[in-house]
Amino acid sequence: MEEIVFSTEKEMQIVQLTAMINEKIEEFNRDIEEGILHVYAPHATGAIMINESADPNIQEDIINKLKDLFPKGDNYKHNCIDNNAHSHLISTFLGCSETFPIRNNELKLGTWQDISFVETDGPRTTRKVYIQIIEK
Ligand code: ZN
Repeated sequence: MEEIVFSTEKEMQIVQLTAMINEKIEEFNRDIEEGILHVYAPHATGAIMINESADPNIQEDIINKLKDLFPKGDNYKHNCIDNNAHSHLISTFLGCSETFPIRNNELKLGTWQDISFVETDGPRTTRKVYIQIIEK
């Protein structure tokens, strides 16, 4: 298992992971004809998302829609503990893992697809993503 560690600067933020994951696949240095990459975020207030990163407007649209769907302070029971129920709900809604096909050492993402971590309760100094490669 490989680990990617990074920090976030904003309360809600989309962090692009594709380049960092591609580096890990290169470091793995194996000839993977066919395989699967599993990406997992071990956080209750973070998520893994696949979407476009070329246009920053769509990232802003995604964050704004998530804020609309899961407003802060919506009388959630969890808020009596640490006031971040909306962050947990977004994380649950998006999910904390995704699986991708690998062929000939390359992630088979669509043209406009990128792998991202979604911060829902930042800023945080230490966010982690685990990646595992399973070869056929
Ligand atoms: Zn909490």
